[in-house]
Amino acid sequence: MAKIDELLGNAVTVAIAGHISPDGDCVGSCMGMYLYLKKNRPDIQADIYLEEVRDVFNYIACVEEVKAQADPEKVYDCLLVSDTSSPDRIGAAGKYLDTAREVVCIDHHITNEGFGGKNVINARASSASEVVCGLLDTERIDKDMATALYTGIIHDSGVLQYSNTSPDTLRMAAMLIDKGIHFSEIIDRSFYEKTFAQNRILGKVLETAQMYLGGQVIVGAVYPEDVTYYGIDKKDTDGIVSQLRLTRGIKAAVFLYPLEKDVFKVSLRANGNTDVSKVASVFGGGGHIKAAGCTLYGSAKEVKEKLLEELAKQMD
Ligand code: AMP
Ligand code: MN
Ligand code: MN
Repeated sequence: MAKIDELLGNAVTVAIAGHISPDGDCVGSCMGMYLYLKKNRPDIQADIYLEEVRDVFNYIACVEEVKAQADPEKVYDCLLVSDTSSPDRIGAAGKYLDTAREVVCIDHHITNEGFGGKNVINARASSASEVVCGLLDTERIDKDMATALYTGIIHDSGVLQYSNTSPDTLRMAAMLIDKGIHFSEIIDRSFYEKTFAQNRILGKVLETAQMYLGGQVIVGAVYPEDVTYYGIDKKDTDGIVSQLRLTRGIKAAVFLYPLEKDVFKVSLRANGNTDVSKVASVFGGGGHIKAAGCTLYGSAKEVKEKLLEELAKQMD
């Protein structure tokens, strides 16, 4: 019996959900699970709920079946949440938290306190997709499921490069490649390829980034006027913080994106020993030691000051 069958028990109706602004790991882990249940557990009626999925993930089978809205009338036996560090980060399907008979939480965020009745949280895993993969019967993973799960692993490990990549991650990636997936295209299409507007905003942010704390911290920001000038939205800025992190000598990279007037989405990345999950937690956010996020209120200048103060403490 695969671990997922034990976790689901005798549930007949299952809602699968991830976090708001779903990234590659969120989409990959949820779709991998959804496709697995659909094919291997015909006794289960599974639905998948995610906020708008970027069209770069259109190669994932059945992605058009994702529901963006929750149905207030529906009650599920099980709500299965993946890649989501806290219940307030579940999108539309957060409604089902109160009504589902069971909540199963599958994750890899160090700040996840385990909000499910059953929790499978491995903070050493590269991705939630890796955790999901470990719960499935390998023999019953097909090419479509492998494509989704590989997407998730690739995205959260920076193409098997970040320090969260373990021998287990690589063994799993190898098993998924064995299923016949087009791994090279998956990586190019969903991870590296950028639109012209995305490249331009990346250029703008790098050009105007500044160094603080004696060169230990780099801060790059998108300003409200850039959003209209470059015709971009938040999703177009994926990957900018990773590029900032590659600045020689820095210990932390900060990226600010304006959600509304005086509201910034903050992305934090660390090199070496700095723990940015602690900085994000101070401001009600969370994440991983080397990649975390939060939302902050105030002008860009105020937000920068607050972050630099906490980062300085973390680096002492
Ligand atoms: P990001 O910078 O948005 O790519 O996020 C980096 C990591 O931190 C991801 O694993 C996110 O799930 C997590 N994260 C980002 N923002 C928040 C937040 N507001 N609360 C909790 N976790 C977050
Ligand atoms: Mn994620
Ligand atoms: Mn993840």
